[in-house]
Amino acid sequence: MDATIIDGKAFAATVRAKVAEHVTALKSAHGITPGLAVVLVGEDPASQVYVRSKGKMTVEVGMNSIEHKLDVDTSEADLLALIADLNADPSIHGILVQLPLPKHLNEDLVINSIDPAKDVDGFHISNVGLLGTGQKSMVPCTPLGCLMMLRDHHGSLSGLNAVVVGRSNIVGKPMAQLLLGDSCTVTIAHSRTKDIQEVTRGADIVVAAVGRPEMVTGEWIKPGATVIDVGINRIDAPEKGEGKTRLVGDSHFESCSAVAGAITPVPGGVGPMTIACLLANTVTACCRANGLPEPEGLTA
Ligand code: NDP
Repeated sequence: MDATIIDGKAFAATVRAKVAEHVTALKSAHGITPGLAVVLVGEDPASQVYVRSKGKMTVEVGMNSIEHKLDVDTSEADLLALIADLNADPSIHGILVQLPLPKHLNEDLVINSIDPAKDVDGFHISNVGLLGTGQKSMVPCTPLGCLMMLRDHHGSLSGLNAVVVGRSNIVGKPMAQLLLGDSCTVTIAHSRTKDIQEVTRGADIVVAAVGRPEMVTGEWIKPGATVIDVGINRIDAPEKGEGKTRLVGDSHFESCSAVAGAITPVPGGVGPMTIACLLANTVTACCRANGLPEPEGLTA
């Protein structure tokens, strides 16, 4: 069987186009431009790339992008003071603090100092609690992107068996909550799970979020199941030449796509959806802040 490739790049472009439409409407009908503030502490090269690309796409959909680049040795007090200013600024609707933070800064404290209504990453403890109790929240971007792709592919997810491999706070746990919210029967597998392949082989949907290159192989997958690969791993690619690398997911694409009914590729699957959902969350936050109806199809 040749799996359908779920094209995250194309889907992300449609999400961004919807966001752009809403931004245009907000500007023309209400004179409001959504604003996203991104705070980067230090000079981690990967974080710099992410922040640049977030800023570029924010501007492309017509929103205001505000970047705060702070020295690596910025004190916790200074960072908290900046976040307090952004919380109080009515022109800022979304605040994202790029993680990881330098070791001397307490990540939980910093994230929980963001106004939950502006917490477009959905990591604030209030948003975690709201999501867990099925209430309106800001939803973490990566699992939201996975959910959108699954809804688009399957229509209703009700009654499907879903296995999420990985239990991190930013991907695995919120992904499981979202699938439960859509009435899947959800299992979370992790490094201590026994007979993990038996568990995944019972699933209609497997979400791989383990951070282990190509760990999930075709043998783990029930024929016809959907595989959502969250992983981003850079591995050596001697076949491309000396010192060359390539990106792979947490699933082994060739063997999984021979068995699965549908699969997201890496790159070009979940990755592009993450930034698109950040923009979606920002426009949602802006509508909520102004008491306006939320855009349809851009939230959980
Ligand atoms: P974490 O390292 O925080 O969590 C990994 C999870 O996988 C843990 O719960 C761990 O279990 C589990 N795990 C590790 N090894 C095994 C194993 N051998 N068998 C079963 N479970 C295992 O990773 P993240 O959730 O942050 O990220 C997961 C992947 O997604 C990474 O590849 C990351 O790069 C990628 N990612 C991609 C994003 C995107 O935009 N596409 C965004 C965020 C992440 P335990 O808890 O027991 O240790």
